[in-house]
Amino acid sequence: MPSADGRTDLLGLTRAEIAAALIAAGEPEKSARMRANQLWHWIYYRGVRDFSVMTTLAKDMRERMAEKFCISRPQASRDLQSVDGTRKWLLKFADGEEAECVHIPEEDRGALCVSSQVGCTLTCRFCHTGTMKLVRNLSAGEIVGQVMLARDHLNEWPSPPEGRMLSNIVMMGMGEPLYNFDNVSKALKIVMDNEGIAISKRRITLSTAGVVPMIERCGAELGVNLAISLHAVRDDIRDVIVPLNKKYPIKELLAACASYPGLSNARRITFEYVMLKGINDSAADAKELVRLLKGIPAKVNLIPFNPWPGAPYECSSDEAIRKFSDIVFNAGYSSPVRTPRGRDIMAACGQLKSASVKRSKAEILREQAAKEAAAANLPV
Ligand code: SAH
Repeated sequence: MPSADGRTDLLGLTRAEIAAALIAAGEPEKSARMRANQLWHWIYYRGVRDFSVMTTLAKDMRERMAEKFCISRPQASRDLQSVDGTRKWLLKFADGEEAECVHIPEEDRGALCVSSQVGCTLTCRFCHTGTMKLVRNLSAGEIVGQVMLARDHLNEWPSPPEGRMLSNIVMMGMGEPLYNFDNVSKALKIVMDNEGIAISKRRITLSTAGVVPMIERCGAELGVNLAISLHAVRDDIRDVIVPLNKKYPIKELLAACASYPGLSNARRITFEYVMLKGINDSAADAKELVRLLKGIPAKVNLIPFNPWPGAPYECSSDEAIRKFSDIVFNAGYSSPVRTPRGRDIMAACGQLKSASVKRSKAEILREQAAKEAAAANLPV
């Protein structure tokens, strides 16, 4: 993908694509694979962006590289820190579109919540991102770029073997990762690569609202942990709060879960369940949930509803949440209540949103024409 200045961005390319880009730029074919491996090490193991420090490349090659290539990062246009240590970056990509990314530190580790799209198509009624339209998919480079940027800020280069504050990744930011699977998959393969960022598939969780036809492929191709945004146990309720349910109802969703590749008691599916007062939080709902999960190696994650301006729901009472959790727990499932993190900076689950708006083709063309006219110093 050419950057604004015409150089090719290496971030987000596979090793084979890097090698091909080198050949296309006139580097010798016979050493392209080796060079791609060397670049990979500098980019993903050391986090280097400047070709001049890549001492395993000959000096003249470093110079040629800098002319033709770059290693990008999204720009952090806002950097907010919560009282609980959670950090949220508003990222601006090369075309000006924006998405958010959140780091949630624990005592001796931490998770990065990564976005897959600018906006979302799903319109889940309790989710702030759902009030945005889908603006566009993020590219593999833009997805990996979130991890790179967080690593830059956390000072975790070269890749530390242990004690990382960015130890886990959750694909739980803005967007539906299974509606942008090709790019998500390419990005996660880069993140998992042992000679680079090296975060294992066991430390990566992909969350989906239930794009049934993609679930099998996610397990077979990536083998990451799966989380399902279930949130309701009856189709009539789920149809309203997770409209994707009208396309893929609960029964089909659970069947896809039951056959998720690699599933075992040691590797369970997480069922996320947002606690909405008076909507899905009764004891009967909890019992029905237990019945539905029968036969699926599962754990349940109860998420207290995180409010946002204009949200049509309220969070269930502590007592309702405790009762619900007890019923699920007593049936043999782990059922922790997720502690809200970063609520004060609107970084908690379901609070992410950016100002990007979908523009019509005509608007984009008008903007382009205006830019070109400005560049050529012409009146619009
Ligand atoms: N589209 C994917 C990835 C987003 S993950 C998915 O739906 O799974 C974000 C998680 O936060 C989902 O489980 C989502 O249902 C949950 N969530 C959304 N809005 C929320 C809110 N206001 N309070 C708590 N959790 C919310």
